[in-house]
Amino acid sequence: MRFVPSEVLVERGEESSALARLTAERIPDVPVRLFEPAEAPAEVEFAAAKKSLVLKRHRGGFLEHCPAGTPGLVCCNYLVVNFASNCPYDCSYCFLQEYLSSNGRLTAFTNVEDGLAEIGRVLSSHPSKQFRIGTGELADSLALDAVTGLSRLLVPYFAERDNAVLELKTKSDCVDELLDLDPNGRTVVSWSLSPHAIAAEEYGTASVGERLEAAARVRQAGYRVGFHLDPIVEHDGWEESYSAILNDAFAAVDPREVAWFSLGSLRMTPSLQKRVRGRSATAPARWAQAAELVPGADGKLRVWRGLRVRMYRFLIEKIRLHAPDAPLYLCMEGPGVWERAMSEVPTDRDLGARVVAGARS
Ligand code: SF4
Repeated sequence: MRFVPSEVLVERGEESSALARLTAERIPDVPVRLFEPAEAPAEVEFAAAKKSLVLKRHRGGFLEHCPAGTPGLVCCNYLVVNFASNCPYDCSYCFLQEYLSSNGRLTAFTNVEDGLAEIGRVLSSHPSKQFRIGTGELADSLALDAVTGLSRLLVPYFAERDNAVLELKTKSDCVDELLDLDPNGRTVVSWSLSPHAIAAEEYGTASVGERLEAAARVRQAGYRVGFHLDPIVEHDGWEESYSAILNDAFAAVDPREVAWFSLGSLRMTPSLQKRVRGRSATAPARWAQAAELVPGADGKLRVWRGLRVRMYRFLIEKIRLHAPDAPLYLCMEGPGVWERAMSEVPTDRDLGARVVAGARS
């Protein structure tokens, strides 16, 4: 097990929820403490908040539109469903450091059935539309799976839906829970990949080799696999290191069978950049702290547009050599960059439909 919490804090009344029971079976030796619903566990410093696990009900909606739906960006109509909040890993560039800075307790939500009912209502209201729904926005989709067994509730649910695909996006190799489930073409497991120099700042995650071994295992078990090169970071020798990572990925999984690829350059808000630069510099390569970034129209900082286009074109060419027909999209980029890098600017609807089709083709 890659992550074991130091303690599990369970909201009183949720002890018999499916998630609490699955967790108790998996980590019987970890101390459990109950808390009253009206008394949320006290907030602790962000790094400490990742060590213990809170199990509690989620109050409010589970589903939301991905933030790439911001005006001015080409969007793939992705929906995110939040069954967890925060992540036991600690990537130096992670936006959760800022986004959850005042509410950082690592949490898995126990009322999974309410989230699934909410998804069900959306799917049945639009039966002719295909949805792609991911759990990896406010959390890594599989980092807690060996502890909570959440995928045992999600994969069978989506296997029975005709108009949705679930994406489990991860930097872990925690796939054991998936292997005896039948995804029925409705769950894609995807990995974020970075060259080794960059992955060195993704503390606690599986190595790139371990991620790819896990990808090969789930592919054999009948899942489609996706790959995200995100965040793409310019560094000395980036052409060689990104080519090597793609070659390794294609050796692990037949590129013609990949459900989708996405490319996204390093991006952060000015306040996240301050936070990243303020981190203690223990990394062997401090590229996230040193990156030279300029503001874009959406207020986020990225490397300048000409360099982003050059990097995208380089990677697109490499991917297309091996996977000429796989869906490929740019994450959080505007029409100008799409036009120059991809020679097209798809509508949100077309791009969404194209990507979701990759799960089944
Ligand atoms: S794996 Fe994802 S969610 Fe977890 S720390 Fe890294 S970037 Fe953040």
